[in-house]
Amino acid sequence: MAQHRKSPTAKEIALDRIEILFDQAYKNRADPVLANRYVALSREIAMRRRLRMPRSYRRSFCPVCHAYFVPGKNHRVRIQHGKVISTCKVCGAVTRYPLH
Ligand SMILES: [Zn+2]
Repeated sequence: MAQHRKSPTAKEIALDRIEILFDQAYKNRADPVLANRYVALSREIAMRRRLRMPRSYRRSFCPVCHAYFVPGKNHRVRIQHGKVISTCKVCGAVTRYPLH
């Protein structure tokens, strides 16, 4: 019997593309213009397909100015009172989330 493979859904394809874009953003993290462009493109894809960004990607750029975070360069991460405090050095936005 022929193997019946489910073809990927639009959301699965979108997630694949987001993955590729974040991979490129990481490789081009030395160039903020390029890295931020990759973030903008993957945000567009996620919004178009009404997807929530996977957490690891969601925390790799600024939620306010969407700058791709490069630790030590435009991103500060500190731990205080059981929370991770992430500061964007581009716009100054502070994000706090619980530490597990
Ligand atoms: Zn920012």
